[in-house]
Amino acid sequence: MKTLLPVPEIAIGAGRIDGIGADVAGLPGKPRRVLLVIDPALRGAGVTDRVLRSLDAAGIAAALFEDLRGEPTAALVDAAAALARQGAGAVIGVGGGSALDVAKLAAALAPAPIGAEHVQFCANPLPPAPLPALCVPTTAGTGSETTCVAVFLNTAGKKAWAWGPEIRAAKVILDPTLTTSLPPALTAATGIDALTHAVEACTNLNRFAANDAYCHQAIRLVARHLPTAVRAPGDLAAREGMLLAACFAGIGINNAGTAIGHTIAHALGSLGRVHHGRAAGLGMRAALPWNVAVNAEAYAAVAQALGGPAEAAALPGLVDRLVRAVGVKVALADELPGVTPARLAAEMALPENAAMRKSNARPSSDADLLALARAVLEAA
Ligand SMILES: [Zn+2]
Repeated sequence: MKTLLPVPEIAIGAGRIDGIGADVAGLPGKPRRVLLVIDPALRGAGVTDRVLRSLDAAGIAAALFEDLRGEPTAALVDAAAALARQGAGAVIGVGGGSALDVAKLAAALAPAPIGAEHVQFCANPLPPAPLPALCVPTTAGTGSETTCVAVFLNTAGKKAWAWGPEIRAAKVILDPTLTTSLPPALTAATGIDALTHAVEACTNLNRFAANDAYCHQAIRLVARHLPTAVRAPGDLAAREGMLLAACFAGIGINNAGTAIGHTIAHALGSLGRVHHGRAAGLGMRAALPWNVAVNAEAYAAVAQALGGPAEAAALPGLVDRLVRAVGVKVALADELPGVTPARLAAEMALPENAAMRKSNARPSSDADLLALARAVLEAA
């Protein structure tokens, strides 16, 4: 038995951000005051002002939280939640995955005097009755706007997560005008992250037909729109297509999780500064020739969604061509000095990466991990 989890209401369209005041006014409790968690880089692009103007026109006061640099820490999430407790009736997140994760988790923590670490790894339940969160992604990759998870660095310096239906956004706005200033390299890396989410969610052990529909559509959208979004950043149709792809892929992983490509990505992320999307794409790419030997029917469907023949054996080549076509650099050993295949394999085997490894359809021995680590590091 499988369950398709609820999906937030999703508003789509160029310029849709300018109506955000009315969106907030229509949220449960009709908030008159919000916490706005927004990437500081969006100020220069005029996005912060557009949001504030729309809120002001709807008579809604906003407390600004722009302290987002690098990966959010537990202390940063707690600071945002403390600000939300000062009378906010809703939390808006505008930015990439980090901004959305901080907004969702601050909204979930606001009703109780507890911190992010108190709820990490489901150690304690989230408080009931979270503030409604409104998510506006400005990258097309993580799918955070449709997942029930928030990621942060805990005080031990480890990547931690909080999960629960309380972390689901109440509403999502997909506005392609907000992603046109994303540089091509980031468009490519985040887009490949979305592709990896979709492929892993429809090929791992948790997959089910109803969820595959979202994943396969996400894969079709990436194949159709990512090369254009990288080549012509101002193409609004391509940008909208990629926002939808990331959003559908987010639904995919919210229902079925990821797989060993993300085990590799998290290990690479702990050992060096490799962009998550690129790391996930390279992890999936390196594992595919080994992975497609099992579960051929699921991989054949992915190959077809990518525009190739319905054959599992065609998939590694199709993914390799797409990754290279959008300019994602495949070789990464130079960026990880001193990281041997054995070191990478040991990192992949850590308990925090076990769930993704276990959900992969093909079981992996420690010898398999070493072979996969070698394939990632020796790729050229
Ligand atoms: Zn990812």
